[in-house]
Amino acid sequence: MNGPLPFVDLASQQDRIRAELERRMGAVLAHGSYIMGPEVAELEQSLAAFARVRHVVTCGSGTDALLMALMAREVGPGDAVIVPTFTFASTAEVVALAGATPVFADVRPDTCNLDPEVIPLAVDTARAAGLRPVAVVPVDLFGLPAAYERIVTISAELGLWVLADAAQSLGASVGEMLVGTWGDMSATSFFPAKPLGCYGDGGAVLTDDATLADRLRSVRVHGKGSDKYDNVRIGINGRLDTLQAAILLAKLEVFADELVARHEIAARYGAGLQEVAGIVVPSCPPGTRSTWAQYTIKLDGDRDRVASDLRERGIPTAVYYPRPLHRQSAYAKFPRAGELAVSDALSQSVLSLPMHPYLATTDQDRIIDAVIDVTRSA
Ligand SMILES: *Cc1c(COP(=O)(O)O)cnc(C)c1O
Repeated sequence: MNGPLPFVDLASQQDRIRAELERRMGAVLAHGSYIMGPEVAELEQSLAAFARVRHVVTCGSGTDALLMALMAREVGPGDAVIVPTFTFASTAEVVALAGATPVFADVRPDTCNLDPEVIPLAVDTARAAGLRPVAVVPVDLFGLPAAYERIVTISAELGLWVLADAAQSLGASVGEMLVGTWGDMSATSFFPAKPLGCYGDGGAVLTDDATLADRLRSVRVHGKGSDKYDNVRIGINGRLDTLQAAILLAKLEVFADELVARHEIAARYGAGLQEVAGIVVPSCPPGTRSTWAQYTIKLDGDRDRVASDLRERGIPTAVYYPRPLHRQSAYAKFPRAGELAVSDALSQSVLSLPMHPYLATTDQDRIIDAVIDVTRSA
């Protein structure tokens, strides 16, 4: 009862779907098409139906998905791509890998997502640095969709295209709109701890644009043209393994159900913690459904003390992210749109609690009680 809890529980999920996992993996071992086997095409079709987009191009990771999207639009030297600084390294890394320059923008304090109103400032910042602003990459942090309606409108006015970093948010929605349908392309990740994860690395790009989908398929296999020894552009080796596609097909069967469970668990955290002094629970705008990839609270008090007191009680927590990218040595040289003060403040106050669809009510109550108890004294 009082032993340490897992932060993410992949074992319970595996118990639930073991028969289907073994059937799916056994089928791959039997046919032996380990690269681009039939499960890859089947997964792409199933994901397209799930997300209600026309084209899904799977690939080797979420990072590859972002990179392939930039390569498909031929982003390169002299181009600037606007990214939030409060994100995982991949979001900006791929811009630099493509030879372009990331321009860091701040996020909103309530949603932790890109502030649409700073996009014009980021465009000016890019131009002042002698760069050509071409795109913006909003991130759906913790599974909450960014403010796409506003972002897409402002971006269109400024001549920017939009690539959604939906690594944490596949399955989220705003009203009737699902993640994958905003902007020109969306990149997602199947890293094991993401809401839909495989047993290794994996990712996908979602788009309604057939021309972009064709280019993505070319970039994925070394820039192939009509056949694989015809190279029409620079590409990468970005394929998803057939075995990982098979695993994802087994997991996709329970994914919608797991999203409902995540939603209920987030609501229970909210009910238990929202009145507690010194804690701000995550906000989810009306009509928006997060995937709750993370349940991230903000603390007024001494966060590190709270985290270590919780660890002593067997409750793991995590900090996403302790340092915004503009404060990382590899990224400090890139242009910044303003002071980025919101991101700096968030990096000091955020704390993510255990979150997965198999979190038992009794365990969750134990977490809520412990959080209330240790924040009282922090
Ligand atoms: C996980 C993640 C990525 C990268 O995905 P990988 O599959 O690990 O390469 C990119 N952006 C964000 C916001 C992420 O959370």
